[in-house]
Amino acid sequence: MRQLPAWSLLVLACSVAFNLLLVSENGDRTSDIRRALEDGPARNVLLFIGDGLGDSEITIARNYELGAAGRLAMDGLPLTGEYTTYAVSEDVPDRPVYVTDSAASGTAWATGIKTSNGRISTAASTDRDLKTILEIAQERQYRTGNVTTSELTDATPAVLGAHVRDRSCQGPEDMARCEHDRRSAGGPGSIAEQLIAHRIDVLLGGGARRFAQATDAGHTVRDLAAQNGYQVATRASELDAARTPLLGLFAPGNMDLEWSGAEALPYPSNIAAPQACIEGRRPQNEPSLDRMTARAVALLDRPSSFGGPGFFLQVEGASIDKQSHSANPCAQIGETIAFDRAVKVGIDFARTHPRTLLVVTGDHGHAGQIVGEPTDLNHPSGLISALKTKEGSTLYVSYGTNAFHRSQDHTGTQIRIAAMGPQAGNVLGVINQTDLFKILSRAMDLPSGQRSASAR
Ligand code: MG
Ligand code: ZN
Repeated sequence: MRQLPAWSLLVLACSVAFNLLLVSENGDRTSDIRRALEDGPARNVLLFIGDGLGDSEITIARNYELGAAGRLAMDGLPLTGEYTTYAVSEDVPDRPVYVTDSAASGTAWATGIKTSNGRISTAASTDRDLKTILEIAQERQYRTGNVTTSELTDATPAVLGAHVRDRSCQGPEDMARCEHDRRSAGGPGSIAEQLIAHRIDVLLGGGARRFAQATDAGHTVRDLAAQNGYQVATRASELDAARTPLLGLFAPGNMDLEWSGAEALPYPSNIAAPQACIEGRRPQNEPSLDRMTARAVALLDRPSSFGGPGFFLQVEGASIDKQSHSANPCAQIGETIAFDRAVKVGIDFARTHPRTLLVVTGDHGHAGQIVGEPTDLNHPSGLISALKTKEGSTLYVSYGTNAFHRSQDHTGTQIRIAAMGPQAGNVLGVINQTDLFKILSRAMDLPSGQRSASAR
């Protein structure tokens, strides 16, 4: 056998040390993948959900920012598969509905059970409450966090800590479609009230207006949070000194966008002069998603001397979806890049904290497609935008799932799921969105000895 030079052993040692995210020099990844497989429980679980983050959205952002051959932080995860996203019929719950919204898809990954569009962790047809992965994490003494760039009461963060008939029931004054869930009707209340009642250790996002609404008892949800011991932060500068339980409400509605640019328009508008996106739009008093992620991790992480469970944290890049609905490629890309920066924070933590499961996925596909250069004889019938990428080529993005000036629709495609750490190998192949619940649940199934060590 040929003698390996000393430097190659050093490279090998480094690649092991850096948690197997480097590809072997000759391109054979077999041993890297083998080493990346880890079974057993996870001390910490980091779940990143890009709302509307399908393969198309990932590729659009990568092409624009890093070039076609570039790689995002999320692209470096060693174990990647795909999962199917679909909802079920409200009246016939075993019948699929091929395009899901974020409420039904969130219910699927958060509870392991498919439901109908619009429902928040309740069963189609019966309205039965479905136990969520955050509730299971709490039972098993994990600390919990829920971070988003949308309103905290929007569907994705809501599925973890609320059970209502309809996603619109975000605050106590928004209960028209959930009358029986009202506190005065003996129900658990709005999504905002239920998130507070769950005593989630860290809640960071937008949606202050929902928490300013009056409950059936007369005070605001924010008052209720304070009564429950929450510190309330409203500016980015307050994050550093914050303690748990923490409720960060950094915008009245959804948080502001990172980038802006021209919306896609019917051909031939927008085509002659490809646009460069305008960056740096987020106001300073609103924290970035990566800063919220870093702060949440710092608040939730338990000292390494502590033998029991660590934390479960969900981080959502919410406006990838919202800007896809608006056919605004620059804003969509800016949110995708911001999400990827938050993923990088998570990967850096996972690399230095053994037994951390990190999962990056989306909740459904979206409308944007990369298309060829349009001509008078051959162009999309929907909307189109031309972008000058940072590597100097022109990227054409088309949105064609709804008419001009209407909200673009989700799509029913399978989407990427990637992971590292304990149980991460279970994302390989083509799995179902409900399998993510099983992966997370299994990862947090610590042996009872370790679990009882954590009693608080
Ligand atoms: Mg969402
Ligand atoms: Zn959407």
